[in-house]
Amino acid sequence: MTNIKLHDKKINSFLEFASDETVAAASAAAAGVLAGKKFAVKDNIAVEGMHLTCGSKILENFVSPYDATAVKKLKEAGAVCVGKTNLDEFGMGSSTDNSALAVTNNPWDLERVCGGSSGGSAAAVAAGMVPFALGTDTGGSIRQPASFCGVYGLKPTYGVVSRFGLVAYASSLEVCGIISNSVDTVRSVFEVIKGKDGNDQTSIEHIPADPAAETVAVLAGDLGLKPEVEAAYKKAVDGLKTAGFKIIEVELPMLDYGIAAYYTIAMAEASANLARYNGVRYGHRSAKAEGFEDLVRKSRDEGFGDEVKLRILLGTYVLRSGFQDQYYTRAQKIRTAVRNEFDSVFEKADLVLMPAFPTAAFKHGDQSLDQFQQKLADKFTVAANLTGMPAMSVPVSVEDGLPVGMQLMAPVFAEERIFRAAEKLAGVLPPAECPGKMEESND
Ligand code: GLN
Repeated sequence: MTNIKLHDKKINSFLEFASDETVAAASAAAAGVLAGKKFAVKDNIAVEGMHLTCGSKILENFVSPYDATAVKKLKEAGAVCVGKTNLDEFGMGSSTDNSALAVTNNPWDLERVCGGSSGGSAAAVAAGMVPFALGTDTGGSIRQPASFCGVYGLKPTYGVVSRFGLVAYASSLEVCGIISNSVDTVRSVFEVIKGKDGNDQTSIEHIPADPAAETVAVLAGDLGLKPEVEAAYKKAVDGLKTAGFKIIEVELPMLDYGIAAYYTIAMAEASANLARYNGVRYGHRSAKAEGFEDLVRKSRDEGFGDEVKLRILLGTYVLRSGFQDQYYTRAQKIRTAVRNEFDSVFEKADLVLMPAFPTAAFKHGDQSLDQFQQKLADKFTVAANLTGMPAMSVPVSVEDGLPVGMQLMAPVFAEERIFRAAEKLAGVLPPAECPGKMEESND
């Protein structure tokens, strides 16, 4: 662990490391398909005996009494958890700079963000500290940091990986997924963590869809991409052609509406899910409070960061009585329309290729990408969450020294179709290694 800790000093992807004794004991006992494989866990997913901060002051001192189902399954398969990674507070953001606890730097360029919200997980993988990491994806939080860090990031079909032990942000949208530098590792980890779980009533059995793919749909017209992403998109399309895929052009006009629908639904669900942090049962409790109401108000005021407060306020606003039809119900109708649009594309194509984000990794504090612009930039990723479909960000090129990834999206249960296409594409456009990658180490 010494080398990982040293290597992480400049990147800061970890919020907590497992103790050397725990890692040594788990490694010695490891047996199973992932025996001895090290992994990191985004700090909104529970690992027994470790902190579960969600990047928030409100849970800064909370230690999880149990393992999330995905973590439990990985441990049973012999994988060894080495630590918890940084994230945007409660998964709300696209840079990891919304973490209240640490600033994580992109291992490709330390002045830049690693993406978010699973930024610590993506940075740790890109820097070679772990072969894979768990993340969560509510609106792009696995795929976008994977793109910024030049690694693979899978958002599985909704419900296929149990959410038990994942701290809820927007329950109808989020999934637990995988970040890795190899498609094969993503596949083998997915095989281990998927499946119905009695502890999560929304979880479902994975019934694999046809893995074959011939036709890939790409987006026509001006997508509003920065030149580096435009160039990478073109390379990916050409790469798919070279790999033998037939390309068709489609338009997805609902993508522009999807973003408003996503934020309406996500904030509404967040306002309900985050009501539990009231300073009473667990989490931060204000020392200055007088009386119950004051305790709730002060604990929440002191514990939550600005972005979280904004979302709770907006979520409460859209759900207030008499206005649900105007906002929440309307957003759900748009959600259905987005799904219908993708369903009709999948009648003509087996996969859809889309950018993960309109820019490459931006600098910390870049004012041209303020919180509002970052939300608009989720346009391409939220579709997979609104529809429940799987999507994986695939590293396709390096532009001006920064990696750019593209997403392959498929109908529900067609993860294997994505893996195979990603492998074919890697044959034509092999992923570049991060220059700041640490040597393989056995510490
Ligand atoms: N950027 C999106 C948001 O801020 C996605 C976050 C996520 O997937 N957790 O909500």
